[in-house]
Amino acid sequence: MTQQQKAVLQGLAELYPNAGPELHFTNPFETLVATILAAQCTDARVNMVTPALFRDYPDPAAMAKAEPEEIFPYVKSCGFKSKAANIVAASRMIVEKFGGRVPDTLEELTQLPGVGRKTANVVLAFSFGKAAIPVDTHVFRVANRLGLSDARTVEETERQLMALIPESDWSQAHHWLIWHGRRVCHSQKPDCEHCALKSFCKSACQGRMINPKADAKRRARERKQGVSC
Ligand code: SF4
Repeated sequence: MTQQQKAVLQGLAELYPNAGPELHFTNPFETLVATILAAQCTDARVNMVTPALFRDYPDPAAMAKAEPEEIFPYVKSCGFKSKAANIVAASRMIVEKFGGRVPDTLEELTQLPGVGRKTANVVLAFSFGKAAIPVDTHVFRVANRLGLSDARTVEETERQLMALIPESDWSQAHHWLIWHGRRVCHSQKPDCEHCALKSFCKSACQGRMINPKADAKRRARERKQGVSC
């Protein structure tokens, strides 16, 4: 780890000492469902719909008996009918294949409909206490911009962060990056002017619009030319 990467992680820790999950859940099933719903939706919106959903369908067995059409009205404000279908299909597989308990391995979790690597890692990290770094769009973007990773895919980002950061900090580092991405380092118009980590940032844009693809291309070009902004 370079001195700069150490300073970035230290800076994030100081900026977000209380960083933690913003989704509400109390058990692995709720974590799984809430995380499926959170795709392309805000955590605040998900937190508005899950209390009624979990009240009426509190476990995989209850959810497995429902039809997607019954579930959709609960979750429609989170978008996509496919989310309701995936929640029901995942619950049925949990009942039929995993004895009614949410599995606790990446391999098993990613067999569930609608569950990709990021969702599986959220469940592993926050419901089973396993070491994992879930990489979502915020983690991918902010880690790249701050020089903690230099990756083109979320899988590559995950591997690079796991190699860089001590395992004991994986969970918190995930939250630091998400919190910075949500509060300051927005995708299209990051608030670079007020960013406390601006001096470490490869992509500091001084407030102009950042297009993520163009941003990656620019960084690649600058790497080739041996320059940075
Ligand atoms: S300087 Fe701008 S692009 Fe860099 S981390 Fe801060 S907000 Fe993000």
